Amino acid sequence: VEDGTPDGSDSSVKVVVRIRPAHAHDKGGEKVTKKVSSDSLVVGGRSFSFHSVMGPESTQEDVFRLVGLPLVKNSMAGFNTSILSYGETGSGKTYTMWGPLSAMLEESSIDTCQGIAPRIFHMLFQEIQKNQESAVDKQLSFQTRCSFLEIYNDQINDLLDTSQRNLQIRDDTKNGFYVENLTEEYVTTVQDVTQIIVKGLSSRRVGATSVNSKSSRSHIVLTCVIESWCQGTSTKSLSSSKISRISLVDLAGSDRNKLNEADRQNTKEGRKVHKSLSSLGKLVNILAEASHSGKCQDIQIPYTDSCLTNLMRESLGGNAKTAFICTVSPICENGTLRTLRFAQQAK
Ligand code: ADP
Ligand code: MG
Repeated sequence: VEDGTPDGSDSSVKVVVRIRPAHAHDKGGEKVTKKVSSDSLVVGGRSFSFHSVMGPESTQEDVFRLVGLPLVKNSMAGFNTSILSYGETGSGKTYTMWGPLSAMLEESSIDTCQGIAPRIFHMLFQEIQKNQESAVDKQLSFQTRCSFLEIYNDQINDLLDTSQRNLQIRDDTKNGFYVENLTEEYVTTVQDVTQIIVKGLSSRRVGATSVNSKSSRSHIVLTCVIESWCQGTSTKSLSSSKISRISLVDLAGSDRNKLNEADRQNTKEGRKVHKSLSSLGKLVNILAEASHSGKCQDIQIPYTDSCLTNLMRESLGGNAKTAFICTVSPICENGTLRTLRFAQQAK
């Protein structure tokens, strides 16, 4: 932030609420469409405000312009960036983040249904090319690599190599925090990344025992590391190299409705999902308060509370730029209110 004081537009945590269009089975209840302005709404007589509210008419392109475009700019400037989609099962997290797989495999141009992830990589590779072409003597090199993992039962599994389970987070002075033995693939085109996403999404674990079989009980994290350096120097010297990381996180459903209250209570993974989402909530709450008070440097952040927050420690807080896309159904239910409360706290 230029003047050193985090403000709404440039704060390190941005919170956007997206209301999905109504489905045939969404009946009854007060509608969450009493949008008061572009950044607030009133639900159940209570008013909530965020950085932005996107109504049911919002397109995938709108979401990209609001959240994806600034993320690419920040990543190219060397910031670690992340987007997390938070909400109940069925509220639109996966649609917003990736879009339908069929749309992603659309080779030609950008399909209107494509989610924010393929759009981000489309722009990222364009920006990389632009930067290389305009660099003095065309001496600027970029290397981009991706990994894709799931956190299930507070354990990390590799989505690109399903034999790699229960991977460990390590910390060393050279690499910082990293996941040991996680597959990383070099990527140079949007197609390289969409292949990784499609492969990873098809290996994603879905709780087979769940009452609500569609309920996703894992967090999935796509990470892209962008490294750049000037070739004029003989080695990747520290002075000329930049490294930043984009993390796209499709969180497990935050559901606590009666449909799966039973297995939330009874199964280990339900409790782990609940615990990791609440430690994420606690963490973003602390970050939001610190950013309002301007004391970002000296706060103690409880990263080690869960695998998710531990993994995200270099992408939440510090100089990182984080965006939460909190998705809700257009009906004012308890789950909708819980998501809005989470979103309001994160702001
Ligand atoms: P979640 O990942 O939160 O469980 P999904 O992304 O799978 O939810 O969305 C549930 C259903 O609603 C899917 O059929 C999806 O295509 C549809 N959907 C969600 N958001 C939108 C939207 N903004 N526009 C159109 N369809 C949507
Ligand atoms: Mg989903």
